[in-house]
Amino acid sequence: MKKTAILETNSCVSCGCCEKSCPRDAIAVYNGIYAKVEQELCIGCGLCVKACPADIISLREVSSIG
Ligand code: SF4
Ligand code: SF4
Repeated sequence: MKKTAILETNSCVSCGCCEKSCPRDAIAVYNGIYAKVEQELCIGCGLCVKACPADIISLREVSSIG
């Protein structure tokens, strides 16, 4: 089962630590407001989970569709 990062957008402090940690450029801070995950690029490595000082990112299993 593929894993992908998900995050609690409302609690994001826009620090950019997740963005710097991601080997796939799959997570980035948009408009300086909050981070967003591109699920198609995410490989579920969990580096952003460890990098986030606000501890708002987690991994979730996603079923492949189609
Ligand atoms: S789990 Fe890995 S690939 Fe996915 S957004 Fe986080 S650092 Fe990037
Ligand atoms: S590391 Fe956490 S708090 Fe910082 S921008 Fe990413 S999701 Fe937001």
